[in-house]
Amino acid sequence: MIPHEASQTGSPSLGLALENHFGRLPDEFYTRMPAERVGTAPRLIHANAAAAKLIDLDPAAFTDPQFTAIMSGHQPLEGFAPLAMVYAGHQFGVWAGQLGDGRALLIGQVRNRAGDLWDVQLKGSGKTPYSRFGDGRAVMRSSIREYLCSEAMAALGIPTSLALALVATGETVRREEPEPGAVLTRLARSHVRFGHFEHFHYQGKSEQVRLLADHVIAEYFPEFVGDHAGWFGEVVKRTAHMIAHWQAVGFAHGVMNTDNMSILGLTLDYGPFGFLDIYDPNFICNHTDETGRYSFLNQPGIGHWNLKALAIALSSLIGSEKLVAALGTYETHFMEKYRALMRAKLGLVREDEGDDRMIGELLALMAKAGADYTLTFRNLPREDQVWLGLFGNHRADAQAWLASYRARFDGDPEMMDRINPKFVLRNWVAETAIRAVEDRSDIATLDRIFSILQSPYDEHPDGEAFAAPPPPDMCGLEVSCSS
Ligand code: AMP
Ligand code: MG
Repeated sequence: MIPHEASQTGSPSLGLALENHFGRLPDEFYTRMPAERVGTAPRLIHANAAAAKLIDLDPAAFTDPQFTAIMSGHQPLEGFAPLAMVYAGHQFGVWAGQLGDGRALLIGQVRNRAGDLWDVQLKGSGKTPYSRFGDGRAVMRSSIREYLCSEAMAALGIPTSLALALVATGETVRREEPEPGAVLTRLARSHVRFGHFEHFHYQGKSEQVRLLADHVIAEYFPEFVGDHAGWFGEVVKRTAHMIAHWQAVGFAHGVMNTDNMSILGLTLDYGPFGFLDIYDPNFICNHTDETGRYSFLNQPGIGHWNLKALAIALSSLIGSEKLVAALGTYETHFMEKYRALMRAKLGLVREDEGDDRMIGELLALMAKAGADYTLTFRNLPREDQVWLGLFGNHRADAQAWLASYRARFDGDPEMMDRINPKFVLRNWVAETAIRAVEDRSDIATLDRIFSILQSPYDEHPDGEAFAAPPPPDMCGLEVSCSS
């Protein structure tokens, strides 16, 4: 929703049912501190009514100046002691030691009426003791990307953190070039990462590893209270399923460091992510990932690598046999989910021996022809000529595949349109939103893209252009870790 006329109806807690939950852990898990009050005149750019509902917040609050003040860190949420969390991690395969919320701050935890606990976290609200060389800031460019992408992923049915609000700080932030600054408000059931456990494990603090595990299990995995091994097995499964979703939809995360891996199996820390345009299995979305460690095709394997790092961090808590056994289920969980998603994308109902081969052949053909990933699936139930047009010089091969597919097809074309999105957050679409906001203060374009991404399976006659591959002048936009 686009904010408009201000009204003053709110309370310093916005009426939220706050609960200091993470703060029940001992001091060594975080640093309590207020936000820095970045910028002098924060301005609300956009707020997310769907996300607000998750914490029982009435979207009418968006017009309250107090909402902007709170979501920029200029005013605290009364009734919660804000904190920055400490964690560690493996970055690009190398132990990086202590990290933490270097520019994030937990400003609230809300127990909603359904009984679910939600973290409310600011990103870009200033320095913390974990900022290292960073400035504690977030730029508008990356904040818009995260704001749009987390909503897109949620609408695609992929586990993810969400964004509640996007605020312009009015401050200029130094990156490669000066850029406008922003604060993003993030919602997730929890922001605990694999790296939280690694932080305590590598300091030999096994008691803290246990405390944190029990804290997480009690709140988010109650069915595993007293069963650490069972809980780890569940984390393995959730991670495998999340990555299967990424592979099926054509999403590359870009920085799958263990500090960016959610213990709940949520897509977290949107940085230099990218959706595939043409299908290139070796797609590297992060310009700074020189070796392609986090290429599209490597993601499932990296998921396993990260879970192994988590297993090591839990080795004082769970016996090695059980850890190894749980890790051994990863590939099966991944393949089962991935296969189910891909079969559904092709509209295959009855199981047939040749199905895996049919899927593999299509992917190989797409890679060879450089076919658009999203449109190949979306247009499959449409006219042959439209679909074949995606395969350029490889039309004859595509025609042969299509003939055997049509002979085999036993699904429902309408159902296929409920799993094959027409709209994903292509890089060029994100860039369009960024330029609109930064160059022209055009919030309406951001709002339009946001609402299209909220129903990615539907037709949007006013947004048809956003379903298309990048126009020539917006091909090959580069994204990096700088955010
Ligand atoms: P990322 O690769 O973005 O997940 O960040 C890795 C670590 O660096 C995390 O601990 C972040 O909190 C921290 N970090 C990233 N950017 C900044 C920044 N501008 N200021 C302070 N800390 C940052
Ligand atoms: Mg991170």
